[in-house]
Amino acid sequence: MVLLRRLVQGGDCCCCCWQAGPPQPPPSPNQSFVSLPWAFRRRGRPITVVQVGTGARKLVIVGDTHGGAEANTYYLTLELIEYFRANAVAVPPDVRLYLIPTINPDGLALGSRFDAFQVDLNRNMNTNLDDCADNDWRPTVFGAYGLLADTGGPFPDSQLENRVLRNFLLDASGAIFLHSNAGLVFPAFCDHAPSIEMAQVYANAAGYVYARYWPNYLITGGMHDWAGSMGIAAITPELISPSATEFQQNLAGTLAVLDARERVLPPPVDQQVNGVTVPALIWRYWQSHGGEAIFGLPLEPARITADGVTQTFTNARLELRPTLADTAFLVQPTPLRIEQAALPGARPGGAMFAVAPQLATQNNPPGYLPPPPSLAAPVLTFEQTGHSLSGAFLTYWRRNGGAAVFGLPTSTEVEQYTADGQRRTVQYFERAIFAYYPEDGSVRLEPLGWQELIREQVRAPWHAAQVR
Ligand SMILES: [Zn+2]
Repeated sequence: MVLLRRLVQGGDCCCCCWQAGPPQPPPSPNQSFVSLPWAFRRRGRPITVVQVGTGARKLVIVGDTHGGAEANTYYLTLELIEYFRANAVAVPPDVRLYLIPTINPDGLALGSRFDAFQVDLNRNMNTNLDDCADNDWRPTVFGAYGLLADTGGPFPDSQLENRVLRNFLLDASGAIFLHSNAGLVFPAFCDHAPSIEMAQVYANAAGYVYARYWPNYLITGGMHDWAGSMGIAAITPELISPSATEFQQNLAGTLAVLDARERVLPPPVDQQVNGVTVPALIWRYWQSHGGEAIFGLPLEPARITADGVTQTFTNARLELRPTLADTAFLVQPTPLRIEQAALPGARPGGAMFAVAPQLATQNNPPGYLPPPPSLAAPVLTFEQTGHSLSGAFLTYWRRNGGAAVFGLPTSTEVEQYTADGQRRTVQYFERAIFAYYPEDGSVRLEPLGWQELIREQVRAPWHAAQVR
C-alpha cells in the first residue's frame, strides 16, 4: 500500500508529467455533494471537479475545453454546480454526477483557446481506437473557423489535461463536453447508439439543433470521439451564444439525460480479448493506454484480490482498486519490479526473475553488441531514484504514459539477455522493463507479467499443488 501511494505521487518527477496529490478518500454515502480539489496542475492552476450523488452510473460534464475563447461554458458549469448543490435530489439515486468547470484552466486564465503549450485539447485525444479512420489523431488539425494549424500536439494524449481526463472517465457511462457557439448538439463521430440518442435527448430538451455530425470540418483527436470508442456515451453541445451561459436550456438538457439514463448512460461492459474475458474497466485502461502493443495480451482470467481486481498481461499486471474510484488512478499497472525487489533473495538493485542465461546464450550471435540508446540526447534525471532516461527509452517512456504507466527508472541502461534470447540494451523501471531492438530501432517491453506468473508457480508451497 505504501509503495502504491508513493508511486501515485511519483508523477511529480519533472516538467513533462503530471503532478498528483494523494488519492482522495471515497465520498461518504450520506454526502450528496463532495468537492475533489485535485492537485493536477500546470502553472499552478488546478483542475477541479464537483460530485453530486453516489450512484453507480457516472455522468461527467466537462466545461471549457477551449479556455478563454469559450469561457461562457465555464460559467455555465459553475451555474449548474450551484443548481445541483441546492437540488441534489435532481440527481437520481443510481447516478453520480461530476462537473468539471474547466479542463483547461491555463487557457481560461490566459484568454486562449489552447493550453499553455499551444495545443488544442479537443484535438489531442487518441481517436485511433474506433472503427472510423477519418477522425484519427493528427498533428495538423482544423481549429476554430476551420483554420488549419499544427495544434494537435506532438502525439496522441500528449497533454496532461487529456491524460487526466482519460483516466477520470475510465468508469464513466456518459460525458457531456460543453462548447460554444454553433448552437447544435452532436454525438461521437463513429456510430455509437447511446451517444446518438443522448445527443438527440439533450438537443430536444435544450432547444438546440441536433446534428449527427459536426458540419463545418472534420474533428480529429476529439474528446467525444475518444469517449465513444471506450463505450462512453459522449456528446458535444455547442451553445448558441459566445458569451451567455444559456443556463436554463442546458439544465433542461442535463435533466433530460438523467431522466433517460437507462438508455443513454450504459454501464461499462466486459470485453473478450484473445478468448479471455477482460473486466470492463481494466479493458478500458488497457485499450486506451496502448493495448496489445504496450501490455501484450491477457494471460489469465481476472483475479479477485483483497484490494480489488488484477489481471496479468504479457508485459504487465493491471490492477483495479475500487477505493481509488473517481481519482485518476482507478486502474494502474502493479509495480511488479518493486515487489520483486523486496522479496527475500532478490539480487542487489532488484534485478528481475530473468530468463535463464544459460539457455539464452545459445541464441546469442558471437560478437553481438546492441547499440546503446543513450547516444541520443536529451537526458532526464530523477532525483527519487538517482537514475536517468535518455534517447529511445526516454522517447518511449514519454509517449506511452511516463511515470503513471511505467514508474521511474530503477537502473542504468544495462546489456543482458532478454526473453527472446538476444543480448540487448535494457533498462528497469518500477513497473516495466524496456528493451532496445536495434533490428528496427524499436523499444519493446520485456514480458514482466509472464515472468511474474512463472515466478508465482515456482514460489508456490509444495502442498499447494496437492490442493489444486
Ligand atoms: Zn470549443
